[in-house]
Amino acid sequence: MDVVDIDSLLNGLIKTYDKPGKGRKQCPECSKYIGARQHNCACGHEFTKADLKTPKPTEKIDENTLSFLSKIGKNISDVVVDVPSGSCFFKLKGRSQEDVTSWCDQVLWRGKSFGKIYTANAMKYFLRESVGINDPGFKQLSLKVDQWRKNL
Ligand SMILES: [Zn+2]
Repeated sequence: MDVVDIDSLLNGLIKTYDKPGKGRKQCPECSKYIGARQHNCACGHEFTKADLKTPKPTEKIDENTLSFLSKIGKNISDVVVDVPSGSCFFKLKGRSQEDVTSWCDQVLWRGKSFGKIYTANAMKYFLRESVGINDPGFKQLSLKVDQWRKNL
């Protein structure tokens, strides 16, 4: 029976990637990406606990959202909701700009009172939920949400 160098055998089995992706981590040694569960990179780098604890990539918040959050005075404990689940706690009364504006205000401040900040995107989800995705008026409504957002 041949003597097999287990290390080199294992290293040969480690698939590396040039680009980041789901379930991949970057090797600090060779900058390639390997499966997040691998303890060793193909280059021989061994991941220590410190490496494994690298912080999760922070959510990318675009400038629009940032200015929005600062305008409404986000507290540290407030959760930003961009994609809400379920339907909205307020009903839209009508479809005029005025109706949409006051509805958005209500949703925003009520949400804020229980620590949730609904973004313009979240408002659109709610509207789509209430008027139906195929409603041709949805596009108009979402433009009105944008208008509300601009005037905040
Ligand atoms: Zn490596």
